[in-house]
Amino acid sequence: MRKLDREAVLTRLEEIVGGEYVLCSAMDLHLYGYDASLARGKPDVVVLPDSVEEVSKVLAFAYREKIPIIARGSGTNLSGGTVPIKGGILIHFSRMNRILEIDIPNRTATVEPGVITLDLQDRLLRQGFIYAPDPASQKVSTLGGNFGENAGGPHCLKYGVTTNHVLGAEVVLSDGTVIWTGGKAQDHPGYDLTGLLVGSEGTLGVVTKMILRIMRAPEAIKTMLAIYDTIEDAGNTVSAIIAEGIVPATLEMMDKVVMGAVEESVHAGYPTDAAAVLIIELDGMKDGMDRQADKIMEICNRHGVREIRVAKDDAERARLWAGRKGAFGAVSRLRPNYMVCDGTVPRTKLPEVLTRVIETGAKYGLVIGNVFHAGDGNLHPLILFDEKNEDERRRVLKATSEILKICAEAGGTISGEHGIGIEKLEEMSLIFSESDLDFMRGIKHAFDPLNILNPGKVLPETQPLNP
Ligand SMILES: Cc1cc2nc3c(=O)[nH]c(=O)nc-3n(C[C@H](O)[C@H](O)[C@H](O)COP(=O)(O)OP(=O)(O)OC[C@H]3O[C@@H](n4cnc5c(N)ncnc54)[C@H](O)[C@@H]3O)c2cc1C
Repeated sequence: MRKLDREAVLTRLEEIVGGEYVLCSAMDLHLYGYDASLARGKPDVVVLPDSVEEVSKVLAFAYREKIPIIARGSGTNLSGGTVPIKGGILIHFSRMNRILEIDIPNRTATVEPGVITLDLQDRLLRQGFIYAPDPASQKVSTLGGNFGENAGGPHCLKYGVTTNHVLGAEVVLSDGTVIWTGGKAQDHPGYDLTGLLVGSEGTLGVVTKMILRIMRAPEAIKTMLAIYDTIEDAGNTVSAIIAEGIVPATLEMMDKVVMGAVEESVHAGYPTDAAAVLIIELDGMKDGMDRQADKIMEICNRHGVREIRVAKDDAERARLWAGRKGAFGAVSRLRPNYMVCDGTVPRTKLPEVLTRVIETGAKYGLVIGNVFHAGDGNLHPLILFDEKNEDERRRVLKATSEILKICAEAGGTISGEHGIGIEKLEEMSLIFSESDLDFMRGIKHAFDPLNILNPGKVLPETQPLNP
C-alpha cells in the first residue's frame, strides 16, 4: 500500500465494514502474515466484512487503488495460499459464517464462506445427511478455504473432492462486480465457471456464498485396520482392492514413523511395530456389506496382511479416525516442523514411489513419515525438521522438490489437494508447458486484469503487479 495513502485507505475501509472490523496493529498484521505453510508475509490491513455488499465495496475500492486482496478462511492451507507476499488488504471471513439454508428436497445447503467444515457436517448429520468432502483439518478449515483449495479428504475416494459437491457460487470479481455461477438446477448452460473457480486459490474471485450438494447419510459403516510388515504389501493391496471393482469410502495408509507419533499422542490403538497400516472403510446399504468386507479381507490376505481388525463399535471407529485425523499434529512430537509434499501418482505406482520417497529422505539425511489418501494415490510424505536449522531447511526444500519430480515422472502430479500457493510455483513447469501456463495466464488476466487477487500465487508470474 502506498505510504501516503495509508490513512485514507483505513478511513475508507472503516466506512465500509465499521472501525471495529479493521485490524492494523503490528500484532494483528504479524498474526495474519502466515498460514500452515513455511511461507511468511504481511498484509497492510485486515478487514472482517459481514455481507456480500461489504465485500463488493472493499473490492471495488481495492480495484480503484490497485491494492492486492487476499481472501482467508482459517489459514490452514499448506502451500502459502493466504500469505500476503505483496501486502494488501486481507479479507478474513470469520463473521460470514452462516448456514443460510438446508434444502432437503433439493439436497443442497447454502452457506457463507466462513462456515467451519465440521459445523456444517454436524448440523447435517442431525438431519440424517452428509456433506462428503472431509479434509483432516475439518474441525478448523472453512468451506470458503475448501472451495479455494478444492479440498479433498479420506472419503473423497468414493464421493469425489470439493469441486464435485459445489453446485453454484456467489462470487465477487476483482472490480467489485457480484456474479452467480451455477445454481440448484441440475444442468447449467454456458461456461462452467463454478468448476473454474473451485481450486483457484482466491486468484480469480472471492466467493461469498456457496450452494453445496448434500447426500443421505449411509445406512451402515464398517471400518477395518489392516496391518502390514512391509509398505510394498500395503501398497499392492490398495491397487488390488480397486482393481477388483470395489471402491471403499476410504483407503488411507500410515507408516511406522507416523503411527509411533500418533500412539504417543492419541492412543488410537495402532500397532507401532508394523511397517504400515491401511484404514479401510465401507459405507452404504447394510445388505451386501459383509460380503464386500469378506472380499477385501481375502485381498488383504493375498497380499501378506499380518492382521485385520474390524472396529467393534462407534467408539473404536472414532478412535481409529482420531489417530488418522490427528496425525499431522502428532508428528510435531518428533520435530518442531514438517513439510507436507502433496504429490499424486497412479495408485499402481504407490509401492515404487514410496520406496523412492524413503530413499530421498535418506539421501538428504531427513526423517520422512507417510500418512495419506492411498486409494487416490495421493501421497503426503511429511518431512520432519527444525526450521531454525538453516541447513536442514535447505535440504528439506531440495527433498520436497525432488519428491514432486518423482511423482511427475511416475505419471502423477504435484498436488492432490493442497494447492500450489507460492510453495510449488517452480514445480508447475514439471507438469505444464509454457503454452499451458500462458493459456492459464490469459484466464487470470480475463478475471483479474490488474493482478490484484492473491497476486503471486498458483501461476509463475510474468505480469508485474500494478502495471
Ligand atoms: C493438520 C492439517 C490437515 C489437513 N488435511 C487436509 C486434507 O485431508 N485434505 C485437504 O484437502 N487439505 C487438508 N489440509 C489443508 C487445508 O486444511 C485445506 O486446504 C483447507 O481447505 C483450507 O481451508 P482454510 O479455511 O484454512 O483456508 P485458507 O487456508 O484460509 O485458504 C485457502 C485458500 O483458499 C482461498 N480462499 C479462502 N477463502 C476464500 C473465499 N471466500 N473466496 C475465494 N478464495 C478463498 C485463500 O485465498 C487460499 O488461497 C490440512 C491442513 C492441516 C493443517
